[in-house]
Amino acid sequence: MKSRNAIVVIGSGPAGAITAALLRRYGYDVTVVGRVRSQPCWEGMSIRALDGLANAGLTLNLRTDLTAARRYSWWNGSLNLVNVEYLVERRQMDLALQRALTARGVNVVDGYVTHHSVQDGGCVVAVEGKCGRVSELFANFLVIAHGRRGGKHIVIDQMPVSVMLGRLFSARLGKEAFTVTESFEDGWGWATWNGDGKLNVNITMDGDLAGSADCEYLFTTYAQRSPEISKLITSGAVPLTQVTARGSRPNLNADLISSTHIRVGDAAYTVDPLSGNGMYEAVSGGYAAVPVINTLLQKRADSLIAMQYYQDRARAIFRQRLDAGADIYKRESRWNSDFWRKRAINGGQAFGTTTTVDRGSFISQPVVEDGFILSRDVFISAAHPRGIRFVNGIDLAVLHKTVLANGSADIAMLTTQLSKGVKDITAALSLLVQNGLYENGLNS
Ligand SMILES: Cc1cc2nc3c(=O)[nH]c(=O)nc-3n(C[C@H](O)[C@H](O)[C@H](O)COP(=O)(O)OP(=O)(O)OC[C@H]3O[C@@H](n4cnc5c(N)ncnc54)[C@H](O)[C@@H]3O)c2cc1C
Repeated sequence: MKSRNAIVVIGSGPAGAITAALLRRYGYDVTVVGRVRSQPCWEGMSIRALDGLANAGLTLNLRTDLTAARRYSWWNGSLNLVNVEYLVERRQMDLALQRALTARGVNVVDGYVTHHSVQDGGCVVAVEGKCGRVSELFANFLVIAHGRRGGKHIVIDQMPVSVMLGRLFSARLGKEAFTVTESFEDGWGWATWNGDGKLNVNITMDGDLAGSADCEYLFTTYAQRSPEISKLITSGAVPLTQVTARGSRPNLNADLISSTHIRVGDAAYTVDPLSGNGMYEAVSGGYAAVPVINTLLQKRADSLIAMQYYQDRARAIFRQRLDAGADIYKRESRWNSDFWRKRAINGGQAFGTTTTVDRGSFISQPVVEDGFILSRDVFISAAHPRGIRFVNGIDLAVLHKTVLANGSADIAMLTTQLSKGVKDITAALSLLVQNGLYENGLNS
């Protein structure tokens, strides 16, 4: 049955769940088709990602869904206590998100999308249910949030494929949960201890290796190269599962958005798992996608601006994350193996460089306002190459126009005209002056 502004979301991971929950808040009729992932796997979540979910009404339960763990890192030969992260088992998390979505009025279908195609200005989505029966849904708009799955990617040739081999053990390592990352000559390991019997060990190596040998053999051999992690295994840990393999390569999808679909989370772009930021990226991608979708559906005249905003954002973040990933690999300077050399390349340059600006000026740029993407004047300068619009709640473009109309930057006059305090006006004006806006006088 066709319903007006029906939105179908494929996938109930963090990207799909956030997007669905926020669209529901806007009053859309949202159906999520999500198949809970088939293999258990543990990942670490930052507090930012958890807060992002909670702010959309998707609160994970600290007692049943998450374990707070101290995060240690052995990198370049030294030990650091980085911060705390939250361990989640991703199958449990899929289920918890589906429950939270249902409670927020989102229709959740336990199924697998086998196909989707554009039809009648919307999309027809084929869903295979639990018992194998296929049904069809009509969507005015489709959100593709099914994680790392095929599709047209912008492949960066020099970016290597990595594979993470994982195994769950039962162990006795004390009551305090922790995670430890450790670099070794041709890879790095990540182990998580949940404080209650479960040790999960993941070993990352070059993807070429995994195709050439038995995963169990590779896991055992490479885990021994990681001194701290192998100590955890040899302290009486007993394997509970087979070795599983997960591949990864940084990718940006070439087909991010159209008038009928948007890609969010890993379906849009993926970064190196070493950053440990994937879930946060998925959550923040959902927050960015929702005003874009709202604009595409409600203000068609602004569609191009909305699409440009989304594409530019994804490209800029992907570029930043590629370079940040390379910087982490560069911080390990003890080895000169192919593994480390290939990953220390700043691939972000392939996606353009950050704009260099000599002197501050205003340009028209897409921004989020009241749930829509609109074009507004923002201030760009060397210190703010991506643009800044507000300082202490003052719209810089409005301030600038008022200064020009007054022919002076008289603070007392500006406080009355803009109904703002002296401190706020001074801070906003200082930013413009410090970034060279008025260096040739008020007419510059
Ligand atoms: C080896 C490895 C380790 C990682 N470790 C971390 C970490 O520690 N911390 C971190 O923050 N990130 C980590 N990441 C990244 C993280 O897994 C992803 O970035 C994040 O899960 C992306 O969220 P998502 O919602 O886009 O996709 P996913 O979380 O992949 O969610 C997609 C959902 O859609 C379902 N689905 C897929 N296809 C269909 C379909 N056709 N129909 C219906 N449902 C479907 C899937 O079963 C899944 O439930 C790691 C990634 C890898 C590869």
